[in-house]
Order: sequence, then structure tokens, then C-alpha cells
Amino acid sequence: ELANRMAERVGDVVKSLMNNGIMATQNQSIDADTAELIIEEFGHRVTRVSDADVEDVITAVEDKPEDLKPRPPVITIMGHVDHGKTSLLDAIRNTKVTAGEAGGITQHIGAYQVQTKDGVTLSFLDTPGHAAFTSMRSRGAQVTDIVVLVVAADDAVMPQTVEAINHAKAAKVPMIVAINKIDKPSANPTKVRTDLLQHEVIVEEMSGEVQDVEVSAVTGQGLDELLEAIALQAEILELKANPDRAAQGAVIEAQLDVGRGPVATVLVQNGTLRQGDIFVVGEQYGKVRALINDKGERVKEAGPSVPVEVLGLNGTPEAGDVLNVTETEAQAREIAEYRANVAKEKRAAAGAATTLEQLMAKAKEDENVSELPILVKADVQGSAEAIVQAMEKIGNDEVRVRVLHSGVGAITETDVGLAEASGAPVFGFNVRANKAARDVANQKGVEIRYYSVIYDLVDDVKAAASGLLSNEI
Ligand code: GDP
Repeated sequence: ELANRMAERVGDVVKSLMNNGIMATQNQSIDADTAELIIEEFGHRVTRVSDADVEDVITAVEDKPEDLKPRPPVITIMGHVDHGKTSLLDAIRNTKVTAGEAGGITQHIGAYQVQTKDGVTLSFLDTPGHAAFTSMRSRGAQVTDIVVLVVAADDAVMPQTVEAINHAKAAKVPMIVAINKIDKPSANPTKVRTDLLQHEVIVEEMSGEVQDVEVSAVTGQGLDELLEAIALQAEILELKANPDRAAQGAVIEAQLDVGRGPVATVLVQNGTLRQGDIFVVGEQYGKVRALINDKGERVKEAGPSVPVEVLGLNGTPEAGDVLNVTETEAQAREIAEYRANVAKEKRAAAGAATTLEQLMAKAKEDENVSELPILVKADVQGSAEAIVQAMEKIGNDEVRVRVLHSGVGAITETDVGLAEASGAPVFGFNVRANKAARDVANQKGVEIRYYSVIYDLVDDVKAAASGLLSNEI
């Protein structure tokens, strides 16, 4: 590879390595310093690809305020299992997309766009639930602008409803409550609203600021109102992007298609993605061979908040990977290879991520860290509440402990996912992590700590928080 890039003979490079005391074979990897030495020996110029180079290509130009144009909001639907997330997504798609377009066949590409009665475009992510939301966030892609929290009116606030609320709050994404199944005789929307109060979600009906809409995914009742509520929330957010620049987007889903090769659905976040564009996406790169929209049609380009299937990748990226258009293919390939190497090194140094000690060390480097995020799982509600209360007392104006999520029961994969996305440790009080959670935690380097005495837990967190504090002084 090195010989190839320098346009020198492989034998000459191997010989030069030998002269420097390195017995390398043709396919052996050599470190960067050695490579630099050899390159200079051949009289070529060295350009090292570094984080800074990658940053340069990716951040490119700052958008000027006058170049920014309004863009549609991106919405994720979350809520407890069986409360109607999928039904609601289907109902919105069916009534709002197919009806308008004669014979239009909707494609499931991971996201779709609809228009409200007033002609406002909304982009919905097609994967309901917070698992996808969190895993995307942990990979650095925050695509969701608004969360629709679905709560079934014949049920009430359930554990996953609470998780969804905490995920939205952790990501600082505004919420709209859809009280679903309002068609059912047993529907009790008032109970949903009062239940939500306990989780600090105060809906408009309760004189709060969170919009709430009664809907039925089955009869279609309230769907227009829900879409209007979303449009209103979007207006408040003043979402903008610059369509006249090289595209940046996030992978919503990706797979290897037998006929078409690697295919990724990308939600464009800024700029416009065009056929023929060269790009890097995570550890992969490529050239846009074709773009296909959510109606299965070939399109030439996709602007901000538009989801499209992208063909022309060299490999399959992962959901949450960020796509950036680059000027040259060499640039795209170099960044992809650089990232693959960094990822490999990271995997090799596994187990290093968010331990309490590392949070403290990180805080010492980063003056802005004044919040210590944590997750708490306990055996009974009383303990969970006592711990949360104790945590809230720790800290002062400069530093505080933020409980991202607290709950009752074993530590699960979802807990670890949320912890990873926010760089938080997980505390188990008289509970353990299940096997799946332990595996994920090991893999991602999320720290799980077990306690059976509240004071011990409080002391440890205090120590960590004062680590953050002393840094401020
Ligand atoms: P998810 O797990 O949150 O995605 O929930 P689903 O969309 O799969 O819905 C769970 C069940 O509730 C299904 O049997 C749906 O038919 C039913 N359901 C969903 N929405 C409504 C509704 O508005 N009214 C009634 N009566 N049933 C609904």
C-alpha cells in the first residue's frame, strides 16, 4: 500500500525497511513513524491524516446566518410496548402519503415524509422506540428534533414510558404526548395526564407546556391535530439548515442487499446530497450511484431533513454513522481508513470508557463539565427514590449530579445504552445487571457499580463530584 501510494516498487520499499533494521513482509503493517522515515528516504512528502484533518474536511465552512433556510422537523415516536407506536406510524403514513398520490407505493426505508393539511412537511423516523434513538445518539448522531410520546389511554404510564421520557430529557429533545386508543370504551385520558405529572411531564390540559393530543391510530381521530401540534413545536424550534453546501447526514439504517450491494438510508441534516457526490460515512466511503426516496422513486438530490436510500457504498455502515461529502475520493478513502484504524485501536484497548475515575479525569481536562450524569437501578421504589433525593443534594452551583434515569429492577441493555450515550456510569442498588447488559457494558466500556448501602453510593458520588469541583477552583 505504501509503495503503491508513493508509486515505488514494493521490493525497493522492503529493502529500505531492511536497511533500517525492519524485517517486514509485503503485507505487514508498519507504524506511522517508520512509514514517515521511509517516505522521506524516497524523497516524497509526508501528509499524515489526523483527527484534525478529518475535522477539517467534515466541519468545512461555517454556515452564514443568511444562508440558513427552514427545514422540516425530524420526529421519533416512543412509548411503552403495545401502546400503539407502530400503528400510529402506519396510520400517519397511510392517511397522509398514499391518499395524496394516486397509486403511490410506500417503501419502508427507515423514515418517511408527510405533509400536514397546511402543507408543512414532517419527517418521521420509522423505527419506534428508544433503542434506536439511543444507539444513534451514542454514535454521535442526534437526528431527532421532536419526540412523540405515545401513551395508551386504556393503560397508563408504564416502565418504558418513563424510560422514553428520560431518554428525551437526556437528549434535550422536546416532547409531545399522544394519548392513543381514545376510541376504546375504557379510555381514561385524565389518568394518563395525572400519571405524567409524577414524571414531571406537565401537559397543556394540566396548565403545563407539553402539548397533548388525544388520538386513535385505529379510527384516525386526532391525527391531524397531532400533526399540527408537531408543526407548531417545529415552528418554535426554528429549525434551519443550509441547502447550498456539501451534504452531511446520518445513517438511519443500512444493510447488504443481494442485488444492489450495500445500501444505507441517510437522513440529510445539512446541505444537499446529489447523485455523483463522493462521500465518507463512518468507516466506509463511496460515490452516490443512485438516490431513492421514501416512495421508491429515483431522485437526483435530497436536501435537509429528507431521508433517501443511498447506493454506491464500498461497505455497509452502521446506523448512527455520519455521512460527509468530500471533494476527492482519495480524501474520502483516507478518512474512512483512518477511522477504521482508530476504531481497531480502540477495540484493542477495550474496557476504557466511562468509569467514575475517567469521568473525573475527563473533567480535569474539560472545564465545561460541571454535570455528573448517572443512572440508578434499585430493588424497590423506596430505595430508588431515596437515592435520587440524596443525589440531588450533592453539588452546588458549579457542579451537580444529574440522574438520567432511575428505576426498579435489574440493569438492562437499555440502561447501558442510555448510560453510554450520555457517558454515565450505572449504579445498581441491591440489583445486578443481566447477562446481555453485562456483555454490552463490557463491550462499550460502561461502568456498572453495585451497592447495598446507600451511604457508600452517596460517598462515591460525592468523591467524584468533588473531583469535578476541585477542578473548577
Ligand atoms: P407498539 O408495540 O407500541 O408498536 O404497538 P402496536 O402499534 O403494535 O399496537 C399494539 C396493539 O394495540 C395492536 O393490537 C393495535 O391494533 C392496537 N392499537 C394501536 N392503536 C390503537 C388505537 O388507537 N385504538 C385501538 N382500539 N387499538 C389500537
